[in-house]
Amino acid sequence: MQPVFRFAPSPNGRLHLGHAYSALLNADLAGKLGGRFLLRLEDIDTVRCTPELTQACLDDLAWLGLAWEKPVRIQSQHWSDYAAARERLKVQNLLYPCFCTRAEIAAASGAKDPDGAPIYPGTCARLTPTAIAMRIVDGEPHSWRLAMEKALDGAPALSYRRFHPSSRQEENVTADPARWGDAVLIRKDTPASYHLSVVVDDALQGITHVVRGADLEAATDLHVLLQHLLGLPAPRYHHHALITESGEKLSKSKGSETLADLRSRGVDPGEIRAMLGFPA
Ligand code: GLU
Repeated sequence: MQPVFRFAPSPNGRLHLGHAYSALLNADLAGKLGGRFLLRLEDIDTVRCTPELTQACLDDLAWLGLAWEKPVRIQSQHWSDYAAARERLKVQNLLYPCFCTRAEIAAASGAKDPDGAPIYPGTCARLTPTAIAMRIVDGEPHSWRLAMEKALDGAPALSYRRFHPSSRQEENVTADPARWGDAVLIRKDTPASYHLSVVVDDALQGITHVVRGADLEAATDLHVLLQHLLGLPAPRYHHHALITESGEKLSKSKGSETLADLRSRGVDPGEIRAMLGFPA
């Protein structure tokens, strides 16, 4: 089977060297393994992700010298795919609406999920069907959460295949989705979530190898559960080390230099490849 790789940035800011590394690694592996290289723009956050940033992202990647198959999948053009997955989970009785505010959830004092957010204490899971119906009819904003315990009840032991790009070796990794608690799968502000849309799209695009940063490694545990619940194939995964600056992950909020900044101070794409350890 021909390997299929993808780079899936969220166009909520300009790309930096961390994005460049991930994109180049995916394209490089696709080239070495005779595979395909796809691009997906994860713009479900339609407030932070603007058409201008989407275009800038495409321009930056083209400037780097990358080429990808067309058409590019742009998530905000595919809401019905995420709605179909939502319905599939709803008929299994695995989603429940949550009306809690961010502040209410932040006040929960229990365990934290792998992203450091409080594990949802299950407040809305205890609402009666009448209370839920009334609040929905009243138009109260709500997200939809995965009923984790129910979802795991009867599920087989979950695991995924981790592959090592240099040695091409693979191994089985046990997944522990319970550490995410009742994760939000449909956000309050947009009719999807990262976790749901990434799993749906990797399957729809026929992705065989997911190569992404180590900051998303723990999320894979949840993705494997969603693949099981939705009857989707599981790709292989490789989580690469993050490019850091003085020991810190690069990010827009920390004012990291963007590819556009590097370009405007005369750095060329060949230098960026070399800087990141890729051959010219
Ligand atoms: N869109 C995600 C991000 O920019 C990456 C998604 C993924 O590779 O699974 O962090």
